[in-house]
Amino acid sequence: MNEQLADWIAKDKAYCWHPFTAQDTWTASEHEPLMLVSGDGVWLEDAHGKRYIDGNSSIWTNIHGHAHPQLNAAISAQLAKVAHTSFLGYSHPLAAELSARLAEFFPNSSLSRTFFSDDGSTAIECALKMALQYRMQTGQPERCEFVAFINCYHGDTMGAASLGGVEAFFSRFRKFGMTVRFVRDLDELRALEGLDRVAGVVIEPLVQGVNQIHVWPQGMLSELREFTQEQGIHLILDEVMTGFGRTGTMFACQQEQVVPDFLCLAKGLTAGYLPMAATMVREEIYDGFSGERENAFYYGHSYTANPLGCAAALASLDLFTSDQVLELLPAKINHLQQALQQLADSHPEVWQTRQCGMIAGIELRQADGSPYPQALRIGEKVCLAAREFGLLTRPVLDTIVFLPPLSITSEEIDLSFAAIAQGITAVLSDGRKNNTIE
Ligand SMILES: *Cc1c(COP(=O)(O)O)cnc(C)c1O
Repeated sequence: MNEQLADWIAKDKAYCWHPFTAQDTWTASEHEPLMLVSGDGVWLEDAHGKRYIDGNSSIWTNIHGHAHPQLNAAISAQLAKVAHTSFLGYSHPLAAELSARLAEFFPNSSLSRTFFSDDGSTAIECALKMALQYRMQTGQPERCEFVAFINCYHGDTMGAASLGGVEAFFSRFRKFGMTVRFVRDLDELRALEGLDRVAGVVIEPLVQGVNQIHVWPQGMLSELREFTQEQGIHLILDEVMTGFGRTGTMFACQQEQVVPDFLCLAKGLTAGYLPMAATMVREEIYDGFSGERENAFYYGHSYTANPLGCAAALASLDLFTSDQVLELLPAKINHLQQALQQLADSHPEVWQTRQCGMIAGIELRQADGSPYPQALRIGEKVCLAAREFGLLTRPVLDTIVFLPPLSITSEEIDLSFAAIAQGITAVLSDGRKNNTIE
């Protein structure tokens, strides 16, 4: 290891604190953190000059690949003008353009208003606060509870975390948050008592990412829309992960012709270049904040509608059109499906594969169908092994997540799956032979 790299690693271990990370393991002397220094298309390069396919789109954010000339140019052009100006008391051209462009995706001005914030959690946070304040200002203060789905994930800020259904992440904080009831599915929602106290139902449409790529049954979303409408409950869609083409359409909700009351967008909004989020609402929600001055939505972040983020988002939307991103997806989704099938056919350790558009999960289990003991950390080991073969991704438990930039080619999908296959073999087949597991 060269001196420069050793110095970066020493500083990281001494001064950084990483998300969702057991720091003792991270800072252990035998652990060499992967230092990523550059990117080009779906490829990332580390400080040793080794190249990897970015198999999880840099934590589900990247859409058109890294260092894309048009995205870089759009951000640079804005940077030469001004990096940031306040959206509190002022406006700027790109935010005006971007909100108009986002509204165009929804027919008849059905989701006409966009409130900008910084990341997925704050997009949810805004929706929750708006939903509660709307009820207070429209004579329904008793509607102050939320319903979420078991094992869902909506972010880590306090409000978003109180909706979180993953016990390991969120149970410690339950008592500090909002009143949220959790249901497994639509039937459990229908059976809930006190639905007249519910302000909104929050769901990740079509697929729950952090819940090991759990795909909802087809039609569930449109039924949920119908039911919430009947009950006077707002439907809050978390498309932080599914938005911007990930599922095969621009937004997941379009696959079931659903328009929610709140739509939360983040990760792919800037194509994975800058932190920015949007909460889109129906005009009637927005109208609930009119009238008295104190009816305003007293909420905002310093970097709301950051011009660099808006520049990236607008350039990304342009690329969707000029590069025919959505038009090219069906062939890629098909190729991904075949790659998953082949992997499952050739590796008995693959218990199940799940796919929604360009989002895939590969769940590994023991031969008898029971999960591996969690202490073995099989998913983590397989991803680490796949890294040696040129693929970066992270598991959720023992499900290997493959969620590449939409710009990935069929050849690059094949390279990724070769790395996953080699990773599985290295950890499970060779490991069993060498008696290094169990
Ligand atoms: C990532 C994610 C979030 C949180 O977004 P952050 O930008 O990490 O705050 C919320 N919901 C879903 C579905 C996500 O995948």
